[in-house]
Amino acid sequence: MDYPGNLFVVSAPSGTGKSSLVKALLELDSRLLVSISHTTRPPRGQEQHGREYLFIEDPEFRGMISHGDFFEWAEVHGNLYGTSRHAIEERIKGGEDVVLEIDWQGALQIKKIFPNAVLIFILPPSYEELLQRLHRRGEDTSDVIEIRMSNAKVEVEQAQFFDYVVVNSLFETALFDLKTIVHAQRLKYAAQRRNKSVVFRALNLV
Ligand code: 5GP
Repeated sequence: MDYPGNLFVVSAPSGTGKSSLVKALLELDSRLLVSISHTTRPPRGQEQHGREYLFIEDPEFRGMISHGDFFEWAEVHGNLYGTSRHAIEERIKGGEDVVLEIDWQGALQIKKIFPNAVLIFILPPSYEELLQRLHRRGEDTSDVIEIRMSNAKVEVEQAQFFDYVVVNSLFETALFDLKTIVHAQRLKYAAQRRNKSVVFRALNLV
């Protein structure tokens, strides 16, 4: 599959700052679209159906699995999460660049079926800092933080299977790194041949 659009997949242990980084990246780059996932997790705080997630019940999610509606799906922290196949394929076929903010299991599934996907792993600077960030965020109880910290160790080990690694010590530096990855992808030969077709034709490049 060589589609004109790029698919960027961003994963990180919770508390690493992934959502804030992706949000800032989208604000800076109007050519990037984010895909809204389906989940069986109930909404938290101010979350709204259709904005953060499409919140659905377990039977509906499982029905979508059996119909092959998901590009990828995974169980994360006891809930089901999935990316709709339709939303992604239409967009990248149409030349749009899509960002997925999903867990590592989903990212690795995508790489298998779509090797051109660009996998980006965001690492915290240390486990101590990750623990402090989870406490500062104030969203989770101590028990949940403990589960997230033990999951983080497994998650961090998956970074070796990703194309790029960004360490989020300083937010602005990590954001710059993300922008650079997106920019570099758009400079690849196949992308430039599509985007700079006049130059390529003038230079007799195929
Ligand atoms: P949260 O419940 O905190 O919003 O998300 C929990 C985890 O699920 C995060 O790592 C998030 O990136 C991941 N996640 C969100 N949407 C999807 C999805 O569509 N597929 C997969 N595999 N993971 C997802």
